[in-house]
Amino acid sequence: MGVPSFFYKICIVGNFGVGKTTLLHQYLDKRFNPNVTSTIGSHFFVKHLKIPNVKNLITLQIWDLAGQEHFKWVRHVFYKGAKGIVYVFDLSRKNTFEDIVGWKKEVENSIGFLPNVLVGNKLDLVNSEEKLITDQDSDSLRQHLDACAYYETSAKTGISVNDVFKKLTSEMYKISRK
Ligand code: GDP
Ligand code: MG
Repeated sequence: MGVPSFFYKICIVGNFGVGKTTLLHQYLDKRFNPNVTSTIGSHFFVKHLKIPNVKNLITLQIWDLAGQEHFKWVRHVFYKGAKGIVYVFDLSRKNTFEDIVGWKKEVENSIGFLPNVLVGNKLDLVNSEEKLITDQDSDSLRQHLDACAYYETSAKTGISVNDVFKKLTSEMYKISRK
């Protein structure tokens, strides 16, 4: 008998323009695509990966809002069947950080608590000397979300992008085996 495979649906959420689609392109194609279009309608990406200490091949189906950030009334359908959430804000725009609380409410009203990761994206645009979002800010938001980790990423350079999905996958795997 072969090794069974595991399948998880993930949703990536956060305000328009924080870099969700670009992060997914970086994760899947290892490149920065500066011309992603914001089409209306959901779409998903598929990724196969391995995680440490697990023989099984894991399949992720990653759903992107694809322009639906503006249309709250259609988003509940999008969350159906999800097993994990990636919350993304833009390190160079504080309002996108503050709005994560609203995204959490929406997700949890729709499907309840799910394993999740918090991501501050566009690290390449911030000056580490004068951070808009301090380590204290991000840590308290991480605790509020009960996120399994917080990563500062750049969809441009690719830094820490893989870690986001690896960590979330390990967490979903752990929970599904309980
Ligand atoms: P979405 O609306 O959340 O899907 O955001 P997009 O992926 O469409 O990205 C919005 C804009 O931010 C685009 O112009 C991207 O090229 C740019 N962008 C996304 N991620 C990064 C990043 O890490 N660094 C920089 N410098 N620009 C980024
Ligand atoms: Mg997008």
